Amino acid sequence: MNFSGKVVVITGAGGGIGRATALAFANAGAKLLLVDLDSQLGEESLAQVRARGAAAEFLRADVSRSADVRAYVAKAVDEHGRIDCFFNNAGIEGKVGPIYEVEEDAFDTIISVNLKGVFLGLRHVLPVMLKQRGGTIVNTASVAALVGSPGLSAYVASKHGVLGLTRAASTDVAGYGVRVNAVCPGPVQTRMIRSLEEQRSPKNPEAAAAAMRAAIPTGRYATPEEVANVVLYLCSELSGNVTGTHITIDGGRSGSGGAVGAVHR
Ligand code: NAD
Repeated sequence: MNFSGKVVVITGAGGGIGRATALAFANAGAKLLLVDLDSQLGEESLAQVRARGAAAEFLRADVSRSADVRAYVAKAVDEHGRIDCFFNNAGIEGKVGPIYEVEEDAFDTIISVNLKGVFLGLRHVLPVMLKQRGGTIVNTASVAALVGSPGLSAYVASKHGVLGLTRAASTDVAGYGVRVNAVCPGPVQTRMIRSLEEQRSPKNPEAAAAAMRAAIPTGRYATPEEVANVVLYLCSELSGNVTGTHITIDGGRSGSGGAVGAVHR
């Protein structure tokens, strides 16, 4: 896949999936604007992207704040005049616990970052793409957008919402040559899944990891690079008439209906 000269904006670019996707776009020739709340992680991603010879910048921004979202969109447009691909990816997992113990503030924070953050990205990037009559957006949802997950009610609600926004937005802009899709990863080897393992089983995180792997027919987590490959596909001409849908990267977990005990020979 060739993204030479294409302008790509990635939120959550300091994290595992965001960084792998930034590097994949860099290898494919894109120019990048990396966005993250964590400056240190964002700058580390920037250094790795530039080491591959890609033109790239980093901007610290909180995706849940309208002013910050306007700022990253303005920076991309000021510097490059356009946004060809937008990976709307930043997200948080929050604290694991049953819904009857979730604090209202904690619920609000997760919805604010994971759902409102994705909305604000769409709200401010789409006008740029409509004006240029073209562009592709990939929102990061999750398998938690398709099924429930114990102890993660706010996260599950936010990711179901991301899929809803993906479907709704795609119909609003399809006539302009703009496509909006989502990726639905199952567990991916990043900081976020390590946090969930530790929260689910503080004394023995590996036990939580083993339980999660046991629910995945392939028997393993995805790599961030495997998610990145799907994002690039959804941003490329190869998926030219694909919009309003999602691709799971979950080792067969959602397709198995949660059945465990996959056969390995
Ligand atoms: P990660 O924690 O490594 O990366 C998330 C990044 O988002 C971090 O760099 C963080 O600083 C940034 N971020 C958090 N809040 C932000 C905010 N308000 N504004 C801007 N940036 C912010 O985790 P990851 O696994 O790379 O997660 C990326 C996306 O993938 C998230 O949306 C997550 O929900 C989703 N996801 C992850 C998994 C998994 O198992 N790792 C599975 C399904 C979906």
